[in-house]
Amino acid sequence: MKLSTPVEKIPRVGAQYTKKLKRLGIENVRDLLFHFPHRYEDFSDLVPIAQVKIGEKVCIQGEIKNIENTRTWRRRMTVTTALVEDKSGAVKVIWFNQPYLEDTLKPGTTVCLAGKVAAGKKSYPGVYLSSPTYEKISKKESQDFTHTGRIIPIYPETEGLSSRWLRYIIKPLLASFADVLPDPLPDRVVKENNLITLKESLWQIHFPDSLKKAERSRERFSFQELFLVQLYVLKERMKLKKQKAVAVPIHLETVKKFVASLPFTLTDAQKKCSWQILKDMEKPRPMNRMLEGDVGSGKTVVAVMAMLNTMKEGRQTAFMAPTEILSKQHFASLSELLKGLGVSIGLLTGQESRVGSRKISREKFLEKAREGKLDILVGTHALIQKGVKFGNLSLVVLDEQHRFGVEQRAKLCQEQGSIPHLLSMTATPIPRTLALTLYGDLDLSLLDEMPKGRKKIITKLIPPQKRKEVYDFVKEEIKKGRQAFVICPRIEADNGKESWAEVKAVEEEYEKLSRKVFPGLSIAKLHGRMKPQEKEKIMERFKNKKDDILVSTSVVEVGIDVPNATMMVIEGAERFGLSQLHQFRGRVGRGKEQSFCFLFTDSAAKRTSQRLKALMDSKTGFELAEKDLEIRGPGEVFGTRQSGIPDLATTSLSDIFLVEKTRNWAKEILQESPALDSYPVLKSAVKEFTKKIHLE
Ligand code: ADP
Ligand code: MG
Repeated sequence: MKLSTPVEKIPRVGAQYTKKLKRLGIENVRDLLFHFPHRYEDFSDLVPIAQVKIGEKVCIQGEIKNIENTRTWRRRMTVTTALVEDKSGAVKVIWFNQPYLEDTLKPGTTVCLAGKVAAGKKSYPGVYLSSPTYEKISKKESQDFTHTGRIIPIYPETEGLSSRWLRYIIKPLLASFADVLPDPLPDRVVKENNLITLKESLWQIHFPDSLKKAERSRERFSFQELFLVQLYVLKERMKLKKQKAVAVPIHLETVKKFVASLPFTLTDAQKKCSWQILKDMEKPRPMNRMLEGDVGSGKTVVAVMAMLNTMKEGRQTAFMAPTEILSKQHFASLSELLKGLGVSIGLLTGQESRVGSRKISREKFLEKAREGKLDILVGTHALIQKGVKFGNLSLVVLDEQHRFGVEQRAKLCQEQGSIPHLLSMTATPIPRTLALTLYGDLDLSLLDEMPKGRKKIITKLIPPQKRKEVYDFVKEEIKKGRQAFVICPRIEADNGKESWAEVKAVEEEYEKLSRKVFPGLSIAKLHGRMKPQEKEKIMERFKNKKDDILVSTSVVEVGIDVPNATMMVIEGAERFGLSQLHQFRGRVGRGKEQSFCFLFTDSAAKRTSQRLKALMDSKTGFELAEKDLEIRGPGEVFGTRQSGIPDLATTSLSDIFLVEKTRNWAKEILQESPALDSYPVLKSAVKEFTKKIHLE
């Protein structure tokens, strides 16, 4: 076996588990070794059975005296009951729905059991150990514990992968690989920062000797990941410095005429940002700029000015959005904004290709792109797939997307030796530490002002007893022809994917609303586990007013524009971060009508209402993000949204000291070896990382 050996080739994994692992993004041996536990249970002290106390988590060792399965027909469960005895006494043990235990733990077997001591109920009287983790004890002299009798790792349990199973698979892999795995960190960096070695930290993060050691391992991996982020950013900067771009002079008359034609006046912030962008593109160096502005701050029109100016120079813009429906939305609003200005706009997605109102074949579209006949090309990832070439591309605009590397930009251009300018738009507020790390290679334009005359969205915190009132209100508004979103709480996510529990929550909410609360209304449901096409179809239906209510997980968060939707109902509001709630709220208030945001919460905790109050005072996304960072830490705030960034690196982002330390080390190492040729392991680690965070 090698590190790159795929999971299906690992002994004892099998087809079922292969599928489950792959759903979590775990493809090979390496991924398994780096699938870290999220917490631990300390079962390192063996307790004499006579001393177990109700409510405690304990670990005992003894002999199985008897064991037996019974079926409870009413609840359709198998209950396995056993009696375990040591020198001090005996205790009852109960497991549910694990009938095989009757055969696995035959009377006479010595076992170690770790779990919670429960007080009996009517059906199971007496004190008992409830569904403990078990481990058979061999008669050999020293026992190497995996599941009990030590500090055991608990992995995020999803997709039917139990921690027990993961321990069982990962431990032998550690034994074969921890020793031979080359450390990407240079020796010097390890020594001078007093980090523990890769070998030790891998063992200690999975099977720690002490919680302190586990913590030290986590520190090491945080350092490593942030260090990689820094190397990546610095290298990207170095590469960019060597590149040329086509200078696009400012066509002031054209831009002025466009601004005058708008049905509104630009905010000062919009003027300032568009000027920064136009000035930047005048230079023969590639622009690398982020346009950051709250939802509704008017980023699109700023980008459009740059596109129009680019077109006037006879050059092309590619405008990329994360989904099909957002691309279509942008295509429509760009066509509207640029009407009558002689701009030819095309749309390319996985599904369709069109120019203006005409559908054309993909081949024709690609040909036009290559010949430079399209001024603005709007689309999804389809725009950067192989085979797409632009005749004279000068500007790439990204909406809420990952990053786009220098090489990737170069590939899009037919011209050798020059790359297009880049403008990346985001509504996600970026704190200083992130600006110094992950976005360290980007210049920033900030839209810190909202257009005037917006109707403030009325935001209310709704306790359980007021629920009915709100439902009645929603009914009335829908009668007037409006629409509503209902968001179900986030439960747990891995690799940015939604858990099945979340999907279930959507199903249940959907059932409840359609049967009991709003019978007669047309309700749709949406979640992240649906196929992209299915999702698009549902959103499209909702946009076209075919449904009154859309019940959804947090997948509706980004960018969708349904001006007729005026109500945002959020279940379990206390479970979301403030920034995220703010993003949800930004989905309404886009039309002329008064909009509402209802935050349902069952939590009576004072902290909850205080936190949610900040939202009612209608703070900007920026202020809310800062509050969030204060209260919940960056892992929560940025964890799932910025896919591609390793978890540990995100949690370390609040640590400005570590951020700066890793940055300095990255600089030093790059100075010594600019291409990292003296550090081949590090070099390939940076390469892997780069692949992950770029749009590929
Ligand atoms: P976002 O920054 O969230 O992408 P958009 O660019 O979609 O925001 O703009 C939101 C809405 O505000 C659009 O309908 C747009 O036409 C409008 N808008 C943009 N700038 C202004 C302005 N200065 N005054 C009034 N409305 C504006
Ligand atoms: Mg937008």
